[in-house]
Formats: sequence, structure tokens, C-alpha cells
Amino acid sequence: MTFAELSVYLDRLESTSSRNELVKTLAELYTKSSPDEIQPLTYQIQGRLVPFFEPVEIGLGEKLVIAAIAQAFATANAEVAKLFGRLGDLGLVAAQLAGNASSSTLPVTEVHARLMDIAGAAGAGSVEKKRSLFASLLKQVDPASAKHLVRMALGRLRLGIGDPTVLDALSFAKKGDRSLRPLLEGAYNRVSDLGLIAKTFWSGGEDEVTALKITVGRPIRSQLAERLPNPEAVIRRLGLVAVQPKYDGIRVQIHKNGAAVRVFSRNLEDYTLMFSELTAAAQQLTDDTLILDGEAIAYSKELEEYLPFQLTASRRRQHGIEQAAQELPLVAFVFDILYRNGRDLTELPYEERLALVDEVIAGSTVLLPAPIIKTDSVEVLTKTLLDSISQGLEGVVVKRPDSKYQAGARNFNWVKLKRHTSGELNDTVDLVLIGYYFGKGKRADFGVGALLGGVYDADNDRFASITKLGTGLSDAEWRQIHERADQLQVDQRPARVDSILVPDVWLKPEVVVEVMADEITPSPRHTAGRVGDEPGFALRFPRIVSFRSADKRPEDATTVKEIAELFRQQRQRKQPA
Ligand code: ATP
Repeated sequence: MTFAELSVYLDRLESTSSRNELVKTLAELYTKSSPDEIQPLTYQIQGRLVPFFEPVEIGLGEKLVIAAIAQAFATANAEVAKLFGRLGDLGLVAAQLAGNASSSTLPVTEVHARLMDIAGAAGAGSVEKKRSLFASLLKQVDPASAKHLVRMALGRLRLGIGDPTVLDALSFAKKGDRSLRPLLEGAYNRVSDLGLIAKTFWSGGEDEVTALKITVGRPIRSQLAERLPNPEAVIRRLGLVAVQPKYDGIRVQIHKNGAAVRVFSRNLEDYTLMFSELTAAAQQLTDDTLILDGEAIAYSKELEEYLPFQLTASRRRQHGIEQAAQELPLVAFVFDILYRNGRDLTELPYEERLALVDEVIAGSTVLLPAPIIKTDSVEVLTKTLLDSISQGLEGVVVKRPDSKYQAGARNFNWVKLKRHTSGELNDTVDLVLIGYYFGKGKRADFGVGALLGGVYDADNDRFASITKLGTGLSDAEWRQIHERADQLQVDQRPARVDSILVPDVWLKPEVVVEVMADEITPSPRHTAGRVGDEPGFALRFPRIVSFRSADKRPEDATTVKEIAELFRQQRQRKQPA
């Protein structure tokens, strides 16, 4: 397949506003690709060269891309910059300057290899090198390809293709329906690499996909927790439980392979360098290969206090890493082990895994075992919850002692209990911003009046509206939202957004905010949880508590299924049996 052919598909994917169409178009693209093309192609449609957890970025800044376009089309930098001012998108600038360059025959695989060379250029003279390599690539392609290449190089090719959409498309391409999604998703939960899955599926079929194993160096999708309203409900449902403090930090998965250690976040970012003290601590461990799961949190030894999430999150930075590590050192509470010396441990009961955690990290002052208390008593659980809260922690996570580790699952093997608030909802939810309404009065100065928030419909890989949001933000935060929204606004409803309400401006679903609300109510105006003529759900008196884009991808937002469960629990509380 040529890159020009791929670009025709990218144009089609970009212009569709229907999620089904997205899946069908992608499936058609897949049926036309060979086993060696399908891997690079799968990364490219998500604007990448490698899986999300590999920190390889083409990483050309605007200035460099302007220079490369100028070089490719023998135009002055100033002329390119002027066109950019007019068109607002360097991709369109490149397409215009490429004029009527005829469709080129560069294969997708070659373009991928050349982009990898650009990404890999380092050291003295690398800026020049990147510019020339990219310019020569632009020179060889047609206008549509130039447009997409430029967007990829800038990290702005966002067609809004979520991971489940890719899995659905793979299934469709082979079977004509979604029936293979569970099998593909299972593999995805173990390896987090869509390109690898696509390639394995194409060359080896279902059996080889099923055989894809957990491997050190490739993150595993995190097991997540369900909610229950109170300790009584927990003991009633789970019986004997292992109770652990819920640390309000950042989830980390630590992979050790000999001296090589990598640290991944829950949304598959690489934190190896940023969280250097965790990396160094893992290097000291004696086992050869390990995968540990835990929560990194800034802890003040002087105050003997856990510090708030915002401080831990401030450690995610590109510059001044060493100084930050000194000023705000992290510890990680390790609450699971998934792999040790070549052995997959995910099938072991939780209690056994936890005993191994103690053994493996014994003696470390940075990697600490998360303590547990085992109980089937409501009183003990309540007291442990209150103790945790009084220590400045978020609450507790309760786990079934006999449960295995289910990668990517959110189920009642793990349940989180947090402090109660006066409202009906005792937990916050994470929403994705999908649009905004122009403001009146003072708000108009910030360019945004109210926001439209959505939750994630994981089955259909869509974002369904649940509430308008108007309160909770400071003036500075409204301004910040406006700035972000400027970069995310799109002309039409994105294909993955499902909403009856039509905001003044649609946004690409990317920004995640944490929201507190009083209760969930049925609502015909919103699509979250709407089935046929049945109304959807809305939030009552929602207010934004914090921005969560630091540690959450849009697909990590609260799901429609969780909202339905919260609504059910809320109704039970109102009408006790
Ligand atoms: P929240 O926003 O409430 O933290 P979440 O959406 O990040 O929840 P959940 O699955 O709902 O994720 O809650 C589990 C999260 O809690 C984990 O991802 C992890 O980051 C954090 N956590 C803190 N302490 C623990 C613990 N002892 N065991 C498991 N997870 C823990």
C-alpha cells in the first residue's frame, strides 16, 4: 500500500461523523493491507510511529516544520509562515504548496521507516538533519499525503480513532462483524500494543493472538476498581476482604529486566526518567525480571504526610527533573506483582501475590509494601476507612483475597470506598469535555460560558453527553479552558461524540475534568445511558473539582456503565429495603 492510498483513507476517516462509518472505513483499509504493512499503518492512523508506551515522537516543532516546508517547495520561510497565519494549519499549507504534485508511489512501510529516522536523529546537527530528511519526504508526495505527514510530524494527526475502534475494525475486516473484539481486547489488555496485535492477527490468526503473553517492557492494562456506597455494602457483597489504604497519587507499573527498568503510567506514558527515584530503587532489587503495580505518591518525611495529588502530578515534567526529585521525592506503595523471573503471576490469588510483593521489595526505602488488613467485619472496615481518611488518604481499596489479576477489567474484585460528602454522590466522576457554549457577561470575556461534559461508552467507544458544566472554576481556569478549547475545536460533531444537545462549539474529546455532583437524575436531554426511548442520565448541580488530563486519557473517564451502577446504588439508598 502506498502512503498516497493511506492518505485517501485518512481523509475519509477525518470527514466522517459516524462511528460505524469509522469502523467500516478502517476495516476496508485493513483488508487492503499486508501483514508487514499493518503494524506501521496501525500506529500511523493514531498519529504515531510506535505504540503509545514507547517514547518515540517525530517531535518536529512548528518552526522546524515551516523550514522543512520552505525547503521542500523552494519557498521563503516568511511566505510559509504567512500562509500558516491565513490557513491556521501547517498541514493545509503543505498541501497547498505541494500544488498538483501527482500521486506518489512511496510505500507506507518506507514512509514509516523514514519518519523513524527523523525521530531517531540526535546530537549535533540533528536539527538540520531532521529538517532535510522531512523536506525530502515532503517533496516526494502528493498534496493529501503532505498534509497528513505534516500533522503527524507535529503530533497533531488526531482522527479520534480510539483503541476499541481499531479492535472492532480488525474484527470486521476478518469476520464482517465485531465478534472477535473480546479475543482481541484480551490480548490488548496483556500487551497494550495495537500494532503488534494487528500484525499477529494478520500473520497468525486468532490462535497466535490468544498466545500473546505478558512481557517485561510492555505495560499491562491496569486492573481497576468498582464503587460501593459504604462498608455494609462491601461486606455484604464480598464477605472476607483485604483492605488497603487508597493513596491519591499516580498509578505506576514498574518493569525490571536485569538492569533495565521502565516505569509506565496507567495511561501508558513512560515515566522512567521523570520518576527516577522509583527507577533507581527497582534497579536495586535482586530479582532478574519483575512487573510491579503500585501508586507513586509524594511523601514528606519531615511532615510525615502524604502530599496532595497535585504535588505528585507536578513531578510529571520534562525539565528540571533532578531538582524536582530532590524537592519532592516520591515513594511507591506497591500493591501487586504480575510477573517474576519469567513467570506470569496474574493467575495467582491476590493474597499469594501480595506475599511475594513483601519478599521482592524487602529492604527498599522507596518501594514500600501497601499494608493490608483482612476482615469480614463492617466495624473493622469502617474503622480502617476512617483511619485512612484521618491520615490524609483518599479512603480504602478493598480486594477479594482469592482473586486473580484481571488486566484492563473494572469489577467487584476490587472496590474503592472514599470519604463521604454531604451530597448524594459520595464520589467524584471524571468527565470529558465535548463542547462549549458562548458565555454572557463576564464569562464572555473568557470566550466560554458553559461546557458540555460526557462520559465514556466503552462498548461502543463513544463519548455520551451527561451534563452542562458551569461552576467550580476560577477566572484563571476559565481562561485556561478557553486556550485549550481553541486547539481542540472542530467544525462538526466528532464521530465518537454522541449528543442530542448541540453546543456552540464542538471539541475533540480530550480534556478530562473531575466533577462533584449532588445526584444522578434521569434525563431525556442527555445520551449517557439512553436506550431506545428510555431517558439517559444527567448530573445534578455539577461542579468541576480538578483537571485530570495529567493522568487520564479520555477513555479513562467514568463510563456509562459506572454511572448506571451509581444511579442504581443511589436509588437503593433512597428506598432502603
Ligand atoms: P479515582 O479517580 O477514584 O482515583 P480512578 O478512576 O483513578 O479512581 P479506580 O479504578 O476507580 O481508578 O480506582 C483505583 C485507583 O486507585 C488505581 O488506579 C490506583 O491509581 C489508585 N490506588 C490507590 N491506592 C490503591 C491500592 N491500595 N490498590 C489499588 N489501587 C489503588
